[in-house]
Amino acid sequence: MSAALTFDDWRAKAEKLSYRNQCFIDGQFVPAASGRTFDCVSPVDGRVLTQVARGDQEDVDRAVRAARKAFDSGVWSGMAPRERKRVLLRFADLIAEHATELALLETLDMGKPIADSTSIDVPATVNCIRYYAEAIDKVYDEVAPTSQDVVALILREPVGVVGAVVPWNFPMLMAAWKLGPALATGNSVVLKPAEQSPLTALRLAELAAAAGIPDGVLNVVPGFGEEAGQAIGRHMDVDAVAFTGSTEVGKYFMRYSGESNLKRVSLECGGKTPHIVLPDAHDLDVAAKNAAFGIFFNQGEVCNAGSRLLVHESIKEPFLEKVMEWGRKMAPGNPLDPATTMGAMVDEKQMQRVLGYIEKGKSAGATLKMGGGRALSETGGYYIEPTIFDDVANDMVIAREEIFGPVLSTLTFKNEDEAIRVANDTIYGLAAAIWTTDINKAMKAARGLKAGSVWVNCFDGGDITTPFGGFKQSGFGRDKSLHAMDKFTDLKTVWIELH
Ligand code: NAP
Ligand code: MG
Repeated sequence: MSAALTFDDWRAKAEKLSYRNQCFIDGQFVPAASGRTFDCVSPVDGRVLTQVARGDQEDVDRAVRAARKAFDSGVWSGMAPRERKRVLLRFADLIAEHATELALLETLDMGKPIADSTSIDVPATVNCIRYYAEAIDKVYDEVAPTSQDVVALILREPVGVVGAVVPWNFPMLMAAWKLGPALATGNSVVLKPAEQSPLTALRLAELAAAAGIPDGVLNVVPGFGEEAGQAIGRHMDVDAVAFTGSTEVGKYFMRYSGESNLKRVSLECGGKTPHIVLPDAHDLDVAAKNAAFGIFFNQGEVCNAGSRLLVHESIKEPFLEKVMEWGRKMAPGNPLDPATTMGAMVDEKQMQRVLGYIEKGKSAGATLKMGGGRALSETGGYYIEPTIFDDVANDMVIAREEIFGPVLSTLTFKNEDEAIRVANDTIYGLAAAIWTTDINKAMKAARGLKAGSVWVNCFDGGDITTPFGGFKQSGFGRDKSLHAMDKFTDLKTVWIELH
């Protein structure tokens, strides 16, 4: 349906959109206890969309109390898995029914192209919730192989109250990656969306309630990281925190846990993904297109963005030309235009941060081949040109730090061993990619690259059936696949002696 909407259609719909802007606690929208709000700004044009409740410790307390009460009552945690499945499938259906509205909220709130919100974010969110709904009445507990006079059960139980703290780059999908497995396994959840992108999370909570998720099982507290986020991290009655965001803030959550109740923490953090291209790639045009999309998709605001392009020195010049050709096609445009492939940076601060990194690249001696500046400033929005650096050394700041913007660093290598060594020379380990037709080189790289995902002859491959997460300082714990349920369940041994 929405694929057929024009730029004008989307603009007209945007004018009529209404926003949920309060905390969602115990099945109801309520203002922050303090009465405070913050501006929710659209990076499309810098306009304030609405004032959102600025939740803090008191609101987190209220949400955790509601979540605990619901959990202890068994209204959800004790429900037969096939019943939870039914409710979660209805939740997924409601998200699909509201696809146009949710895609528009996402695009206005964080600036990604409407073509992506409709074709990627919403369908992937629906698919994620459906996957865990359908899985939950098909997973079994275990019976241990003990002697005959004992029955030992290994039960998997929900941990209880889960805090989910998520970022702004895929606001709805990152929330779904936590909500799907956490809710399916019977937990109650307190979700804190990023301050830059609270709108879809609040609408999701309402749809969850309409689907029949009982009051208190899913609560959403919008607000700032240092306030609502920290309150979740330090709460004595939150059993687990599932976090997606920067490595810096991930480390805070480890500290919060240690200084409070030793809650379980899982962290999906940043990355500096190496994208390796060998001369024997089956199709260098396809590889070049992937190199461009790998860094410019979602304005480069992707944890696994292929931000370090490692090209064999023998093909660097022609290959980089092809990447630039694709980059030129991705010049930013109005996110509400269905033809736009690159939208706005999430906010002015992020735009300035990325522009600052571009300056650091130039002053370190890297060659700016393309882009490097702000675009479309007359709109009032926060756009950056697709930017490509050549002659980057792996010890430059632009090769070491996560920029989280449309900025590609190009490096060369002489042989595969050097490529793998440079690829691994980073604090991060979220993902890596290699293009080669030689199965021996591909497997050697797949084993040698220290990353949670390795893509061979593709970029950003995977679906809901495959685990996603990091090695090293990209974090620990996995989203997606059945393994994601491990974060939200605990094993209990019941040892029964027979007499
Ligand atoms: P961020 O600054 O780390 O924020 C993530 C979340 O943590 C937000 O909800 C934020 O709230 C909250 N937060 C910030 N400071 C906090 C504090 N002191 N205590 C408690 N909570 C706090 O990350 P971001 O800028 O939103 O997102 C970009 C990052 O996410 C990148 O590093 C990216 O790589 C990572 N990411 C990783 C994955 C993955 O799966 N590995 C996926 C997507 C994104 P506020 O917004 O209110 O500050
Ligand atoms: Mg916003």
